[in-house]
Amino acid sequence: MKTIDSYDFTGKKVIVRVDFNVPLNDQMEVTDDTRIRAAVPTIQKLREKGAGVILMSHLGRPKTGPEDKFSLRHILGDLSAKLGTEVQFANDCIGDEAKEKAAALKPGEVLLLENLRFYKEETAGDVDFAKKLAGLADAYVNDAFGTAHRAHASTTIIAQFFPNDKMFGYLMGNEVQNINKVLKDSERPFTAILGGAKVSGKIEIINNLLDKVDNLIIGGGMMFTFIKAKGGQVGNSLVEEDLLDTAREAMEKAAAKGVTLYIPEDAVAADKFDNDANRKTVSSDAIPDGWMGLDIGPRTRETFKTVIMNSATLLWNGPMGVFEMENFAKGTVDIAQAVAAATGNGAFSLVGGGDSVAAVNKYNLQDKVSYVSTGGGAMLEFIEGKVLPGVAAVEE
Ligand code: AMP
Repeated sequence: MKTIDSYDFTGKKVIVRVDFNVPLNDQMEVTDDTRIRAAVPTIQKLREKGAGVILMSHLGRPKTGPEDKFSLRHILGDLSAKLGTEVQFANDCIGDEAKEKAAALKPGEVLLLENLRFYKEETAGDVDFAKKLAGLADAYVNDAFGTAHRAHASTTIIAQFFPNDKMFGYLMGNEVQNINKVLKDSERPFTAILGGAKVSGKIEIINNLLDKVDNLIIGGGMMFTFIKAKGGQVGNSLVEEDLLDTAREAMEKAAAKGVTLYIPEDAVAADKFDNDANRKTVSSDAIPDGWMGLDIGPRTRETFKTVIMNSATLLWNGPMGVFEMENFAKGTVDIAQAVAAATGNGAFSLVGGGDSVAAVNKYNLQDKVSYVSTGGGAMLEFIEGKVLPGVAAVEE
């Protein structure tokens, strides 16, 4: 893997695609600085290695041209404080000002370019626009994994202008390495745990994982499409009628591949979608009319925990129930704790996807799993088995 560690940056200008797409409040203050903090190690390393560092990012979804509420100028103070140096700013990501400021950068200095998406050429993947950005620097670093599944000018197209001088930053390198470790180099038994609301959007993931795992655990709302496909009674639970055949095919594929598919035996059912609903534990294929399954039941929790504790590799995406409501969070809490405990015993665990990351953070287990992917859509496409254009562009 090409990373910044093995490259000589002395006296060079490097253009770095970072992800500074952070939330701002009405006063244009950063309300969650996670993404800025995450970019700091790569930037500081480049400065230490003697590079003049040019940072480029998108912020929000501006429609046509510049809009103050999407200006990266708003994060300048925050970024300067975190880097311990005054970061310079160019009011346009291309053009004379950017060129002059980039050319004047001294080793260790940092220049932030204005929002790339003020140009529609960015998301269109325009080659001329990418070339103008490339013209600012001698080397290219991609450290924005969250946009790696998009063939945008700054995430993919630009790489062709640096055939021998392109590499991953630490953030992106870690994501690629950890997801590859699970998908391509996993120790056995390998168990994937999938939850969340729906099967749709996860079909490709299920299909790809069935080629790789020993065990596939299904929980969350998506379990009921499988249970109904097997002929069970699901009451008012979330079901995707149009995916019943897809669920049947997945079950057949699992059997053919020798993958053990774990579908919950019991569920916690509620008489309405409310934390204070009446609730009872029922067999997962006998949810009474008027009731809906909102969490996995106690027998299922025990089965899942045992499978998890006996695994050497774990991939978890999606909550086991409606964990935002305390009365339906037990399944997700137990699975999160089991993943953490298995990791403590030596298993490698990767947690990814918005809600499972939220769960791991909520239960304070983020340091007890091997790796938490922040990649969102990029991470999901990666585990679907797709080649991410931003990754391929650097690796080619
Ligand atoms: P996803 O975005 O597909 O990962 O889905 C996450 C959401 O699924 C969370 O907001 C959960 O509340 C929801 N969810 C999990 N289990 C269930 C269930 N049994 N019924 C309805 N929603 C659920």
